[in-house]
Formats: sequence, structure tokens, C-alpha cells
Amino acid sequence: MKLSDEFLERVKQANDIVSMMSRHVELKKAGRDFVCLCPFHSEKTPSCHVYTDSQSFYCFGCGAGGSVFTFTQLTQNLEFVEAVRFLAERTGIPLPDDEGGAEALNKRSRIYEMNKAAAKFFVKCLDTHTEGISFLRNRGLSDNTIRKYGLGYAPDSWNSLKQHMNSLGYHDTELVEAFLLKQNQKGNIYDVFRDRVMFPVIDRTGRVIAFSGRIVNENTEGVGKYVNTSDTPVYTKGDNLFSINFAKNSKRKYMILCEGNIDAVMLNQAGFDNAVAVLGTALTPSQARLLRFYCEEVVLAFDADSAGEKATVKAINLLNREGLAARVLQSDLMKRAGGDPDSYIKEYGAQSFEELVEGSGSAISFELDKLKKAVNLEAPEGRAEYLKKGVALLCQIENLYERTVYGFDLARDCEVTPTVVNDVIEAALETKRRFGNKEERRELLNPAVKRDKINPESAQYPKEETAERGIIAFLFHSPDKLPVILRALSPNDFPTAFNRKLFETLILRLNKKESVSRESLGGGFSAEEMGRIEKVITENADLPFTDGRLSDYINVLTEHKNNINKKSYNEMNNQEGLEQIERIKERLKI
Ligand SMILES: [Zn+2]
Repeated sequence: MKLSDEFLERVKQANDIVSMMSRHVELKKAGRDFVCLCPFHSEKTPSCHVYTDSQSFYCFGCGAGGSVFTFTQLTQNLEFVEAVRFLAERTGIPLPDDEGGAEALNKRSRIYEMNKAAAKFFVKCLDTHTEGISFLRNRGLSDNTIRKYGLGYAPDSWNSLKQHMNSLGYHDTELVEAFLLKQNQKGNIYDVFRDRVMFPVIDRTGRVIAFSGRIVNENTEGVGKYVNTSDTPVYTKGDNLFSINFAKNSKRKYMILCEGNIDAVMLNQAGFDNAVAVLGTALTPSQARLLRFYCEEVVLAFDADSAGEKATVKAINLLNREGLAARVLQSDLMKRAGGDPDSYIKEYGAQSFEELVEGSGSAISFELDKLKKAVNLEAPEGRAEYLKKGVALLCQIENLYERTVYGFDLARDCEVTPTVVNDVIEAALETKRRFGNKEERRELLNPAVKRDKINPESAQYPKEETAERGIIAFLFHSPDKLPVILRALSPNDFPTAFNRKLFETLILRLNKKESVSRESLGGGFSAEEMGRIEKVITENADLPFTDGRLSDYINVLTEHKNNINKKSYNEMNNQEGLEQIERIKERLKI
């Protein structure tokens, strides 16, 4: 939908950010503005600011920020256009009609409708077909739990869902697009889910966005244990977590991450409303970000087999990178019970599982343990090997105190004094500082510098990136400076991709005499990226917008450009030289 600046402005005016945000958090007056505990990360002292003049918010803790549109996107998990529509509708502003955009929006809402209708159908089939319900009851699920999760059954048939949905007026093309039906090469259209118990995947706002179907008959050959909805206009594989609709309301401070849907359901039934499952993929960065939205710590309860252990190691790294602490359930105990949380609870009960969670070790001790098991500690060679690998692992820990504590454990196991371990770690770190690659070295010297996910190149070009942000802030504040800037620079002179895209967007909009307000940019950037844009505006707000400051920024980028030109000139000379040699060789027939 093409949303005009005027329309966005009108919707924004009608939805005051202060009153919208106060529905979610308690706002405290601070001068003209407000502060609050950030609704997007957990904290004890308020670092989220709400600015009445600009009708925007920015969290200095986690970097979330933007307009009332971004806020609505983040709290309700909506696309930009959906957020605009929501805010327009709640204030009675008629939507502009625009064929293309409205069509896309309608398609999405129609898929939500279809998913809901299909979920109802699967629930009904649970009553009429015994296979499904007896499978679920045999697994120990109570009827209450089955109802709570809206579990269902897809009959062993090629077209029962198809017929049902057709009778409701949904046609095959859109059902295929919703991944409820499939079309084979011969053109035949059939049900995707057959003879499976059905787990509807429900997002944070309560909409059915996808399905996960598990086979009922384990002996069926040639089919996967789980079939999950693939990408559709309302669902992206790897973006969601099963049971997040319950877990997001949990009072517990951590979440339990499982592999299988049944594990999450069983844990929920046993009182762990904070259990979620990964939905048929390895943990993805966007799932980790979703978890970070609701908790600070994740307990990994993957299956206790080697595949599960591998997945655990990968997940630990991913979670740490997203700033989440990770703990790992003791796999030995789980192995004894049958390998997964579901069977553990059946064997030992919920109380014991709670103890298992409380006693679960940090991710580091999990990894140290794995290294330890791979060597023979009785032999000196084994201890040396363990010491070497353990030190390499501990070098990756940024926190000095943690490193020291685990260093003690390592020293004890290797029968050396802690000082020895410490010295070896220090020496290894020193080598890394000197010879590691540039980025790694920067992180080591300044562990506070976290990897920048929105603009990864910022670590590579710190000086230039600051200048880029400065120039962009100037454009937001004084768009009339654009000609001055363009006389010296083009977007290609911005070395980092995110700022380059932002700069380009601003130029395009200003050239078309369009607004460069945060509202008008929302369609081209994700809600997370809007937070970054807010940061650029906020951090520059109190600095003077003088010509001197602007030309300093321009100079930094001009210098960078000249350096690059010099370099490519040298490379070109080399290349030319080589070609010349080739030509001479050819002439002399060498
Ligand atoms: Zn925050």
C-alpha cells in the first residue's frame, strides 16, 4: 500500500505515543518527556525515554526505538503496514485505497483465516478419528492440555482438508500458498498433512501462523517424523517458536528450549509454562532474538543424543552472541530416562525436573565436560591435551571472573596449580591480541564492544561509521544541507552497508520532496533497524548542527575515498604490468 506522508502524519497525530506506551508500561515524567522500564528488555532502572515533541521513543539499554508505528510493530509483532492499519482503524481513520498494497494485506489476513479454519477442522477430526486422540493420550497428554494447545488430527486422506476448505469458499491456489495443500508436477492438488497429529503454531498475538504435524504411525515408511509449514506470506521458517504464546506470559525468568513440540507440551502440562520448541530447524538468530524479548537466560533441553549435543553447542554460541546466558540440562540423567524432557518427566516427575533445571550447569561447564570426556585424565598426555583444549575454550570467555573460576576447575582436573592455567591463558590471549585478526583483536582489547548486528561493518570502519552517522543526523535535522553533502560525497563513499542504504533512502526521498520523518521511513526498514535510526537521531540531538561539524564528517569520508582510490590505482598498475608481461611472453613465444 502506498501510504502518503500526509496519511502517516495523520495516523501518528491521532495515536499519541505517550498514551499508547502507557498502556504497556508505567511512564514517569522527566521534564517535558517521560522515562520507563523498557518493554523490550528486562531491567531494573529505566533506560527507555519517550520524547513528546518528536513523538518517538528510544531505549539506551537495548537500542529499540522509533515512532508509534515501530512501537506497535514490536509489541504486536506486525509488519509496518499492518501496524499503520491497526492504528488507523483504532482511531477511525479510513485507509487510503490502493490496489497492490491492500491486496497483499488482504492475502495475509485471508491466510490467517484459512489457518484458523484448518485448525478447527483438525480439532474436529480428533473426535471423529481415534488414531490421533489415542496417540496423544498414550503419550500422556491430558484432554485439558490437548484442548489448551488446540491439538488436532489430519486424517489419512489426500483431500479431506481440501474438500472442507473448498466448501468454506477457499480456492486451491490460495490454499497452496498457505501451505495447506500441495501441487505435484502432474498438477494434482492434495493435502499436505496426512495421518498426523497437528500442532498449530500460534504467534505472540494469538494468530495461527503455521502447523507442525507429527506422524502417528511410527512405522510409516518414506515420510518424515514431522512436517512443518514452509515459508508463506504469514510465516517464515525459523522465525518462530512453538508455545511462545504461553511462554511469553510465564513468571519464570528463563525459558526452556526443547527440540520437539511434544516436549514443550509435556513440560507445560507439568507446570513449566516457560517451555518452547524450535519447530524443525536448528536454533536461528531470529529465534534467539525472540527469546531475548522475554528472558535473559535460556535452559537448553535438547535430546541427549549426539545430534542433540551438537545442536546444543551451536545454540550456546548463538544465544551468547545475542546476549543471552545459556545453561544446559545434565544430559547423563536425561539419557538414563530415555533422552528427552518428555520421558524424563514421565520417569521422575515434575519436581525432579525442576531440580534438574536448577542444578543445570552453565554452558561453559557443559563444554569443558565434553572435552574432558574425550581424553584419558589418568595419563599425562590426556591431561596435557585437556589443558590445551580447555585453555582455548576459556580464552573465548570475555568475563575475567568467570574465566578465573573455570580456570580453577581446569587446573584441578589437570593436576596443575591455578597460576599455571592463568599464565597459559594470559599467554594465549596475548598472542591473540597481537596476531589475531583485526576484529577479534578489537573485541579482545575492548570486550564491551559487542558485534553490531544491524551494521556489521561498523567494527571495521569505526571512524568512518561515526562520520556516516553524523552526516545522516544532519540530513534529518537540516535537509537543506543535502546539496553541500552531495557536492563532496555519493552513497558509494559510505563504507558500511546499513548507513549507505539509509543515506540513499534519504537522498531519494529528499529529491522527491518527500518527508524524512521516522514515520515515513518505517516501510523500508525493519522495526530493529528503526531503533538504529532513532539512535542516530537521538545521539546527535544535543550536538550543535554547525557547518564545521558537518565538514569534519565529510572530510573523514573523503579521505577514506581517496585512500581507496589510491589503493585500486596501485592494484590496477599491477594488473596492467602482469598483462604486459603476458603480451611480451606471447610475442616471444615463451
Ligand atoms: Zn530496551
